[in-house]
Amino acid sequence: MLLSIIVPVLNEEESLRELHQQIEAVCAREQISFELLFIDDGSTDKSWEIIQSLSQAESNVAGIRFRRNFGKAAALTAGMRAAEGEIILMMDADLQDDPEEIPKFLAKLREGYDVVNGWKQRRLDPWHKVYPSRVFNGMIGSLTGLKLHDHNCGLKMFHRDVAAEIRIYGELHRFIPVLAAARGFRVTEMPVNHRPRQHGHSKYGFNRFLRGFLDTLTVCFLTGYGQRPQHMLGAIGLFFFGLGILGFGYLSILWGLMNIFHAIPVEPIGTRPLLAYSLAATVLGAQAMSLGLLAELLIAYTGRERDNYSVSERTDLPTEKPRLNS
Ligand code: UDP
Ligand code: MG
Repeated sequence: MLLSIIVPVLNEEESLRELHQQIEAVCAREQISFELLFIDDGSTDKSWEIIQSLSQAESNVAGIRFRRNFGKAAALTAGMRAAEGEIILMMDADLQDDPEEIPKFLAKLREGYDVVNGWKQRRLDPWHKVYPSRVFNGMIGSLTGLKLHDHNCGLKMFHRDVAAEIRIYGELHRFIPVLAAARGFRVTEMPVNHRPRQHGHSKYGFNRFLRGFLDTLTVCFLTGYGQRPQHMLGAIGLFFFGLGILGFGYLSILWGLMNIFHAIPVEPIGTRPLLAYSLAATVLGAQAMSLGLLAELLIAYTGRERDNYSVSERTDLPTEKPRLNS
């Protein structure tokens, strides 16, 4: 069984040769056949030259070079598309992830899991990364229901099927386990040895946490309502629209009591704050519902059918009748 190791690279010239040596040493010792794919995500240092020379010297090393920096998720996507192995491992290029973990991850996968996510139990990063990261992991856990200690760990191993089914764009590479779990894949985690960065510097600053929060909302929406957006937007819309109608109803009754039945003293309703609130609520409600319908339209006409289910196994299917194309 072939293992495809995917390594996104942004200005990591000092680490690449050493990383290759370490991977080679572990895989030779454990008799793991592997291919190593470096994706150069717009490096401006000597990274690409090193990748080129490694892939000339080794038949199982290859490289892909982006024209400019497209981000880690894009690099991983390119790697997954090029990968030929049954099993895919992604790891960072900066030597923070330890190749010694590879056999343990493979053993865990053989226990019957589809995704094994690393967990930097003893984390060797500065505090301003460690603490926000704990909050982030707790938040993803409670919002998505998949409780892992370290969603953003660079070390993740999964079956080819997972890579084929999930789409990671933007910065959604942090959500591979969540997206996989939402499709019914079995996800687990594994404590890993974490090492401090030796060369170069981290490519992410503090704003990753703000973006991470927004992405968490996106992923919650995608996994919960991606196939039925009107159930969320429509519910919000109906709620506000209903509130507005109640307000209008109340004001209409008042108006009737004053002007038709003369049951109470006349007082203008045009200046009541409730009128403005009711108007705002009906407009907001109608807007949320029409947004929901637009979203449904997108899914109905552009959504691909294979996205709304995930098959784990099948027996031989009878072939007499022509099948519907998906
Ligand atoms: N990386 C990348 N493109 C980017 C940012 C990062 O390919 O736009 C790579 C980077 O070279 C490294 C991995 O993604 O191999 C993780 O980045 P980094 O070590 O900076 O993240 P941290 O460990 O600080 O979370
Ligand atoms: Mg790092």
